[in-house]
Amino acid sequence: MKSFFRILAVIFCSYSIAYGESFSLNTQVVSNVGDPIVIVSPDKLSTNYFVKATFDTNLTFKFYDLHGQSISIIPTPVFNKNKIITISVFNKDKKIFSKSIRLKYTKNRGKIPKLRLTMIAKEILNDKEAIQKERNYLISLVAKANSIDFRPIDFKTFILPSSNRITSPFGAIRRYPNGRIQYHNGVDFSCNPDDNIYSANDGIVIVSSNFIASGNTVYIYHGLGIVTSYFHIGEVYVKNGDYVSRGQIIGKIGDTGIVTAKHLHFGTYILTGSSYMEVNPITLVSSVNSTIQYGNIVNKNGKSEIIHE
Ligand SMILES: [Zn+2]
Repeated sequence: MKSFFRILAVIFCSYSIAYGESFSLNTQVVSNVGDPIVIVSPDKLSTNYFVKATFDTNLTFKFYDLHGQSISIIPTPVFNKNKIITISVFNKDKKIFSKSIRLKYTKNRGKIPKLRLTMIAKEILNDKEAIQKERNYLISLVAKANSIDFRPIDFKTFILPSSNRITSPFGAIRRYPNGRIQYHNGVDFSCNPDDNIYSANDGIVIVSSNFIASGNTVYIYHGLGIVTSYFHIGEVYVKNGDYVSRGQIIGKIGDTGIVTAKHLHFGTYILTGSSYMEVNPITLVSSVNSTIQYGNIVNKNGKSEIIHE
């Protein structure tokens, strides 16, 4: 397997609360909406500990065990009137740590690009009811990952599913022919020269089916509350319930569903308890990989250990 992704070290900031209650955060990389906030404790925290994130709504997130440490990943919302997100760590009902982060919103410079779709795709898009019904069905399928307890013995670092060029980044704003303006909730890869799609990590296939908009679609749960998605696949090689390993070929890049050209759309999501929220795949992979690769990034005294590549 090729190493597709040069792991960029992410510097975490450390906060010491009391003995046994130290946390480090990747706040240096969290600046844009969609960047995940990663909270790491050097201790194995009991289930009494949880994180509350406050933006336009309140959501709670649990800590997952990662090599004897504890990790909680908080998605930052792409649409949020309140540009400040506050995250607080609780031990039962006692707040032991709190930090507010101001998020930047992507400003679209110039004209919003219009997607050039085929006539058939335009017609399909006009069937809003069918699209919404399908979206709700997909949400219900992916939310089921909340009940999966997937804990591999050895968490591996994530790879990107393609070594091809990224043609559209996370957060890009575009206009559909029906006038709807949407942001891009994943990253797109071109299809040349390699049309294999690789699983980003070990995991369980939770969705492998065909949908109107995303075409042949695969979702994989990897543990730690992380789900990845692969859209517009040509040939699919995995089915629901399959265990996949990192780098396993799950399909070929295709042009199924509503597309302007053959490409792979890759998305990453964080489970929120009853649903899930998308995050920027690039910052998620670099932040989580730094935690997995460098292990104990905050010592018991809460002193930060500067991480180098
Ligand atoms: Zn896309």
